[in-house]
Amino acid sequence: MSWATCTSGHHHWGPRGAAGLLVADAGRVLLQLRAKWAHQGGTWSIPGGAIERAESAVEAALREAQEELGIDRASVDVRGSYVATCGGWVYETVLAVASAPMRVRDASESDGHRWVPLEEVAAMRLHPSFRSAWEDPGGELRGFVGA
Ligand SMILES: [Zn+2]
Repeated sequence: MSWATCTSGHHHWGPRGAAGLLVADAGRVLLQLRAKWAHQGGTWSIPGGAIERAESAVEAALREAQEELGIDRASVDVRGSYVATCGGWVYETVLAVASAPMRVRDASESDGHRWVPLEEVAAMRLHPSFRSAWEDPGGELRGFVGA
């Protein structure tokens, strides 16, 4: 995997774009504390990463959630997605709800996790990209978690 340069000149991780899994449950969202050594380490975000060859955004999000937080894909129900683009580079936030009791553990790239109530998310030290998505004027992510 490698960095991609978008038409605005930023470096983004993943030449095919990236995806993350946002899991909502009863007005809370599952956030992950990124490991200190990772890019933007020490910030809170959702599990996610670069989309691999021949993989859909949903598959990538579910794989990353399994690798980073041990989430069994059978315990989440995918409902949709929110797509953000930056200079032609795409990040897809896959929106899911917990469909079964979820077991979450900190694995690769994760220093912790928390189910955060909707109204507390903005006050956390968020990964800048996740903050942009969360604070999008359309409010798609907030609306999904609060539904
Ligand atoms: Zn960019």
